[in-house]
Amino acid sequence: MVCLAVKAGGPGTFPEWKALFADLMPELEVKDWYDPALNPAQIDYVLVWQPEPGRLAQMGNLKAILSAAAGVDHILADPELPKALPIIRMGGDETATQMADYVRWAVFALLREAPLWYGAQQAKQWARKNAPPTRLSSATRVGIMGLGNLGSFVASKLVAADFTVFGWARHQKQCAGVTCYAGPEGLVPFLQQCDTLVCLLPETPETKGLITYSLLQHLRKPAGFINVGRGPVVVEADLVRALQDGTLHGAVLDVFDTEPLPETSPLWAVPGVLITPHVASEASRPARARYVVSVIKALEAGESVPLTYNPAQGY
Ligand code: NDP
Repeated sequence: MVCLAVKAGGPGTFPEWKALFADLMPELEVKDWYDPALNPAQIDYVLVWQPEPGRLAQMGNLKAILSAAAGVDHILADPELPKALPIIRMGGDETATQMADYVRWAVFALLREAPLWYGAQQAKQWARKNAPPTRLSSATRVGIMGLGNLGSFVASKLVAADFTVFGWARHQKQCAGVTCYAGPEGLVPFLQQCDTLVCLLPETPETKGLITYSLLQHLRKPAGFINVGRGPVVVEADLVRALQDGTLHGAVLDVFDTEPLPETSPLWAVPGVLITPHVASEASRPARARYVVSVIKALEAGESVPLTYNPAQGY
């Protein structure tokens, strides 16, 4: 019998996961990661979010680690992580759809100056005289950094919403309706096209600290900025500076260097910023359970799985 241990969503969520897997794959034995009687040698697969360091190394018969999220940085943070095991990122339709919904909302929020109007509402001001010149979606150029599983889907939805869309990745891409740039040499020409920049990059040694004040200077000013990738890709002090001096007219931020964002962060109070607490895309438990079952069935059948973490690339 194949055995899956689950640590996703806190100790109280296990009964829900167990019921979902019982419906989808009755032959799967599902164990609670928090159960003190859990036998580590019995576990074939884990579905995890932030595994305690050293815990995975105890599971001597583990075949693969399934991330409860699309990112894997919370797994790689374990210094004792067994290096040879495949790590599979969370996928499925809901993950991409939620991300596309969030990014479209954020792009429209910046287009229609939502941070400005929200600030005026807080101050009970009818701030009609402050309205900046109207801009149209059809005249707005949106650039997406990262054209992977999520970025390419988000790009297609922005094209459908009438924006002019640009994309940047490590490798040259072909995405319908999207002008694509690649590699370090493509970065500045890409940025020069953008009124709004969307970061959908993973955190890797190469992307960490990539978005600086001087990089933001290449955008069409004043620009909008959306970060749904990972906080450390952006130098936060540079972001604050760019918002304060008008390089950026607004930002929608879902991910941060430190999460939860500390009360002392200047980002809470910079005008033009909307903050959400890392909620851009979190597929429902039923959708994640369906995806996990599809992955386990594929791996048990000896098939390859698309969203497998590549250690050489770092994502
Ligand atoms: P993928 O691995 O499918 O795509 C990553 C993209 O980033 C690829 O297009 C890749 O290029 C590009 N990339 C990576 N490194 C570089 C680099 N050095 N230079 C240029 N491009 C680079 O990831 P997903 O699309 O599934 O997810 C992206 C990220 O979104 C996740 O890693 C996670 O951090 C974040 N995320 C955030 C969520 C939230 O709620 N805020 C939820 C889910 C994910 P190439 O295609 O050429 O390899």
